[in-house]
Amino acid sequence: MAKKPIPKRVMRARLLCAGVLLCLLASTAVGYAVTEQRKAAAPAEPVPTATSPAAPAAEMPETTVPETTAPAETEPATVPEGLFPRAGADEVLTVTPEGDNWALTPVGYRYRLPADYVPELAAAVEGADEQLDARVAPAYAEMYAAAKAEGCTLTPYAGYVTQARQAERYASRVQTLVAAGQDEASAKLAAAKRVEPAGASEHNAGLAMDVGSASADFVNTAEYAWLAAHAWEYGFVERYPAGKTDVTGMEAEPWHWRYVGKAAARAMHESGQCLEEYLGLI
Ligand SMILES: [Zn+2]
Repeated sequence: MAKKPIPKRVMRARLLCAGVLLCLLASTAVGYAVTEQRKAAAPAEPVPTATSPAAPAAEMPETTVPETTAPAETEPATVPEGLFPRAGADEVLTVTPEGDNWALTPVGYRYRLPADYVPELAAAVEGADEQLDARVAPAYAEMYAAAKAEGCTLTPYAGYVTQARQAERYASRVQTLVAAGQDEASAKLAAAKRVEPAGASEHNAGLAMDVGSASADFVNTAEYAWLAAHAWEYGFVERYPAGKTDVTGMEAEPWHWRYVGKAAARAMHESGQCLEEYLGLI
């Protein structure tokens, strides 16, 4: 029996259906390709943070916080845990500002420099008596020039201090408190909140500058306002902010500005973290 020819009307309908199906398939394929492209363009794995379980501290490269390159938008809020070991409550660790992360070195009561540590020094500003670590001085000079152009003079009041001089200052502070009636043990602890023992001051490392004066009134000056707005652009942070005494162990020192490098200073400026928080040392 001869096959009955398919009517033209039915044939057209079938062709139309096939065409629609093809179109649907094609658009789905295009959509998929776009999705794949978007996936490819999206940022790769997020930079591990201190809380990332996938990044054991020992395997982190030392270059995670670059000092010289422009910080990426994905700047981590904190550096990898274990970049610097955390000192226990009654522990004193020895630290030396060297290696890729030298600028982030915590220096304080529980993080002390070797007794013979002396950084390579340079004048903070050309012609100034005050000195800083030679790696920090150019950044201070650049910041000084930028502020000066806007009518602010960031007078380098106190930069590098020898450990011998630091020991004298600390002993003098303890003596004052003892003379005021405190027993020696509590006087030593109280003194350290303002004047650290030898090797425990960032000034002994040449990493910090007291700007203008060492006076609480500094917080009310145009210089302080300028620093609060711009110091991070040059790699400096207010090291002992008001309200962070419990974390830093130091009373507020609005005049004390510490170099940490531009990437870290930007991250700390944006997050409001102090160095201990940024390094995960609390
Ligand atoms: Zn200081």
